[in-house]
Amino acid sequence: MSMLVLDEDIMIDKLFTPLGNWDIKKFKVNFSNYDVEAILKILMGTKDMKDTFIWHFERSGVYSIKNRYCLGKDVDTTTEPSYSTYKKLWWKSLWGLELPLKIKIFIWRAFYDWILTLANLRKKGIKVDRIYPFCKAGEESTVHALWLCHNLKMIRKE
Ligand SMILES: [Zn+2]
Repeated sequence: MSMLVLDEDIMIDKLFTPLGNWDIKKFKVNFSNYDVEAILKILMGTKDMKDTFIWHFERSGVYSIKNRYCLGKDVDTTTEPSYSTYKKLWWKSLWGLELPLKIKIFIWRAFYDWILTLANLRKKGIKVDRIYPFCKAGEESTVHALWLCHNLKMIRKE
């Protein structure tokens, strides 16, 4: 059998024979037997049908708020921690670390952007220069001063 490797961006109509049936040869070369079986179970519309979106949770195929609500209330949200749960766990682990309290407070202030950077002073209406004097390459914001500044690479290596 010759190789009929498909392009990654192939459209589904390239997988049909001229008569409108699945081109099994292309399937068997490019997909596992398991996938071929699954694909062949898909019911096909007529060739003249226009593509459309189908809400597969509803027998009619039409999306409805009522159906979505019914699906949503059945979803078990207790197994997946929310972002706020992760955040609480993160803070709890930070406060549990054996670090000087002033370091923990600094991290906490940096997280909420409560560091007195030039950018934050300007936000408060204080007329100061905006350029970070340490590098003169960007605005002195918390993110720049603590993470983005290229000069930090020198400090971190020492
Ligand atoms: Zn910088």
